[in-house]
Amino acid sequence: MKNKLKDFLREDISDIKEYEILDAEGMIKLDAMENPFDIDLKFEIESISKNKVNINRYPDGACKNLTKKLRKDHNLKDNFNILVGNGSDELIQILCMAFSKKGNTVLCPQPTFSMYKSISNLVGLKFKTVPLENDFSLNINEMLNNIKQTNPALIFLAYPNNPTANLWDRNNIKKIIENTNGLVVIDEAYSAFSGDSFLNDIDKYENLAVMKTFSKVGLAGLRLGYLIAENSLIKEFNKIRLPFNVNTISQKIAELALDNKDYLDEQSLEIISFRESLLDQMMRIEEIEVYNSSTNFILFKIKKGSADDIFNKLLKDKILIKNMSNTESLEDCLRVTVGTEKENNLFIQSLKNALN
Ligand code: PMP
Repeated sequence: MKNKLKDFLREDISDIKEYEILDAEGMIKLDAMENPFDIDLKFEIESISKNKVNINRYPDGACKNLTKKLRKDHNLKDNFNILVGNGSDELIQILCMAFSKKGNTVLCPQPTFSMYKSISNLVGLKFKTVPLENDFSLNINEMLNNIKQTNPALIFLAYPNNPTANLWDRNNIKKIIENTNGLVVIDEAYSAFSGDSFLNDIDKYENLAVMKTFSKVGLAGLRLGYLIAENSLIKEFNKIRLPFNVNTISQKIAELALDNKDYLDEQSLEIISFRESLLDQMMRIEEIEVYNSSTNFILFKIKKGSADDIFNKLLKDKILIKNMSNTESLEDCLRVTVGTEKENNLFIQSLKNALN
């Protein structure tokens, strides 16, 4: 890049590391918490007739039909509304932009989903973390101390957490909500696999918002997430999103998916049963420490040897998982997404070979 042009760029951009996505061509893809099943024809683009989707027109920016179905699905009361985003990544960005007032802080436990930090930094928010306990539970005293000290504008709590795959004590989360002036966003990206949610609590706290996504339940390619919060909050966030942030085809397919919700729910249940069987098999491997999971992925630690080594050996077998070993406090850890039975068996076989 010419220096003159470089002079105009924000200085901090050159220090940002790109979000790394490895090439998955020809791989058994167990790195990104996707649903491994092919989606039935009724959700596919071909099934959307030209008459129903006018792609010559801009999308409905308010996603009216989709939010109507979501409202019904979640049995939302009139004082709550839904903001749909281009994936929940975009909602995190909208939330951070909305709260990016000089001096404001975002607070998160650590380790957690990396986008909370990168987006906070990008929009100029201060970012504070409280390390999780060794068993990945919340250090509630430290969280409360930090809330007192920094008065955070936003707290993101992934429930269950990525990458540790566990749920936190509900009472501790309630303590956090009750003791902060800021907005607590419960990110329920993996709730289909945990069976737990804070949606029934949004009525009790005016500083609680719940975020969900279609990505983990079979529709990652659509890029659709949504935030549920009290009307006046959604009204403000709506002003920040781009006018047509969610495309027409994604909206339509998500509506079809909601009309056939049982189909996707059954797949999630199947993934839960695969997870249990995978956990069971992994726990019998002595050379690794396996952490329990309430999600569609499993975090594990290589007890002897190097996680990089095992990761690379799996790659040679065309199995792509996620190497977490460069994440603070997750040295020697790897993360595998639950795949189909066949994929899981190939993974187990390859892992055992790699460890020998
Ligand atoms: N929240 C959590 C906790 C996640 O793990 C992820 C994706 N890995 C997201 C949000 C982003 O999901 P989406 O595909 O909806 O942007």
